[in-house]
Amino acid sequence: MGVRKPIVAIDGPVGAGKSTTARRVARELGFVFVDTGAMYRAVTLDVLEKNTDPGDEGAVKAIVENSTVELRSVENGQRTFLNGRDVTDRIRDRDVTAAVSAVSAQKAVRERMTELQRALGRDGGVVMEGRDIGTVVFPNAEFKIFLDAAIETRAERRYEEMVSKGMKISIKELIEEIRERDKANTERALAPLKKAPDAILIDTTDMTFEEQVATIVSLVRGEKG
Ligand code: C5P
Repeated sequence: MGVRKPIVAIDGPVGAGKSTTARRVARELGFVFVDTGAMYRAVTLDVLEKNTDPGDEGAVKAIVENSTVELRSVENGQRTFLNGRDVTDRIRDRDVTAAVSAVSAQKAVRERMTELQRALGRDGGVVMEGRDIGTVVFPNAEFKIFLDAAIETRAERRYEEMVSKGMKISIKELIEEIRERDKANTERALAPLKKAPDAILIDTTDMTFEEQVATIVSLVRGEKG
C-alpha cells in the first residue's frame, strides 16, 4: 500500500484567487482539483430552472435530493455536470451568482454537498477549495490555507475575468456585489465562511499568481518558503 496523499483545503472570500490558484497547485502536485463553489452553483441553477424560490426550504430540499451534481476532471481542470448536462459555463452567469448565497445557506443543500465532497476527498490527493473546507468538510485536512486579499484587489481581479468573458459590469457594482456575497457567506448560520484556527493565512493582495502557487506547493512538499 502506498502512502496516503494529503488533503489540501483552501478557503477564503470571493475573488481571493482560490480557484485559479487551487487548480494550478493541484496540477503541480498531481492532485485532483475540486471547486466546491461550482457544486453550489449547479444546485442553484437547478433551483432557478425549476422556477423555485431559493428561500423555499422544502422545495429546495426536494430539488437537491433528486438531482445529480458531478465534477469531471479534464486536462486543464474540471467540468461541472447537472443531471448529466455540462453546465460549466452557464453556472458563471449573473443570475446564478445572485441566487447562490441563498441556496447554499439551506441545510439540505449543505448536507448533500458536504457528503459528496467528503466522498471526493476520501482517498486524499485532492486540492479542494470553497468556504468551509477546512472548518466543516475536512477539519482534519493535512493542509489548511485561508486565502484573503483587500476587497479592491479582489474586485479588480474579478473585473478582469468578467471583462475577458465579455460581461458588462462596473468596478463599483462589482465591489458592492462582492461585499454582499461576503456578508451573506460570513453571517449565515450554517458553515459560515471563517478561517479555521489552524489554517495558514495567506494575504494575496501584493502577491503574483505564481507566488501564491509556489507558496502553497512548497508548503505541501515540506520545503521552506
Ligand atoms: O467559489 P464561488 O464564488 O464560485 O462560490 C459560489 C457560492 O457558493 C459562494 O458565494 C457561497 O455562497 C457558496 N459556497 C459555499 N460553500 C462552499 C463553496 C461555495 O457556501 N464550500
